[in-house]
Amino acid sequence: MVTAKLRPSQVLINETAIAHNVQHAIAGLPQGTELFAVVKADAYGHGLLRVARVAQAAGATGFCVAVLDEALALRRAGFTLPILVLGIIEPAYAPIAAANHIAVPVGSTEWLTQALPGLTAGSDLPPLHVHLALDTGMGRIGFRQVADLKAAAALATDHGDQFKITGLFTHFSTADDPDPAYFNLQVARFKEFLAALPKRPRYVHVANSATSLWHAACDCNLVRFGVAMYGLNPSGRAIETTPYPLEPALTLTSTLSFVKQIDAGEAVSYGATYHAEKPEWIGTVPLGYADGWQRRLQGFHVLVNGTFCEIVGRVCMDQFMIRLPGEVKTGTLVTLIGRSGANEITLQDVADYAHTIHYEIACGLSERLPRVSV
Ligand code: PLP
Repeated sequence: MVTAKLRPSQVLINETAIAHNVQHAIAGLPQGTELFAVVKADAYGHGLLRVARVAQAAGATGFCVAVLDEALALRRAGFTLPILVLGIIEPAYAPIAAANHIAVPVGSTEWLTQALPGLTAGSDLPPLHVHLALDTGMGRIGFRQVADLKAAAALATDHGDQFKITGLFTHFSTADDPDPAYFNLQVARFKEFLAALPKRPRYVHVANSATSLWHAACDCNLVRFGVAMYGLNPSGRAIETTPYPLEPALTLTSTLSFVKQIDAGEAVSYGATYHAEKPEWIGTVPLGYADGWQRRLQGFHVLVNGTFCEIVGRVCMDQFMIRLPGEVKTGTLVTLIGRSGANEITLQDVADYAHTIHYEIACGLSERLPRVSV
């Protein structure tokens, strides 16, 4: 997708906020516990390389990504810190991961046997770093039985030229839930697995942002720090208190590209779903659902000169319209996410209106919107 640099719609990224969030998180970690910055999905829409650079400068000692391509993008950009891919990669690509010193998760013996030939074939590849993934209740990837984990660990150990077990991890499904019952169940299962492994790997990790904020450490030495790095509360609004203030890093702004007055009864946008009740000033904002500003945001609002202005009519692919309090000049700043005067629209507000979570709104802001550091 082409990034629209000549259009005044942009995502502003506050690097200082990201740095503060990382520094606060690290300050609260037990001695010897490291923080890997989770920068998958273009750093939750904030820009992969920018966030990786800021997080590293703030003390992150590694990165987590979702797919091998994201890991390679970091390596190509010159990042040398450890990288862990969080999703299962194709066994055929194991040699690429090994050659680039990228660690991958393993959740079955079958995966190891399938990856083995490619890592063996007359190569001078370094051993592939693997983190054994445990399904303690998330139901996504990972070993479900202690015996299977032990068998895989034995196979990997027997092929020490091809595999090096550098991690053991699991992922919680309810760490952001005020009710800890299911979380505690997963912790108990994780401890069972950990106790069964003959040798403790270099990294033992369970914590996402929510775990790092609201749960005591459980004999681990690494945190996979994602959404809170971007200043977003992992629970949405469910748990309001955090041990340190989370500073949101993302602002979305545009400017009015067209302003006009319409008469009572006149309609706005596709389907003519909105009709002016009286003469009204209507502003056009040059971004739309192709930028990730969802069609369902009709009826939500943006900020112009500190005033909330309703989105009227359907959000189009590349533009949408708002009702202005009066005549406003074209070129006036429009704040879609962020602060304007005394008022603010947060990613959480947008997510609430769209019946989703802020993660999805942030990741959904498309590549057409330039990301600009502030
Ligand atoms: N670890 C794993 C395995 C994940 O899938 C994710 C995100 O989806 C994270 C860590 C980071 O989670 P969060 O952004 O909630 O901190």
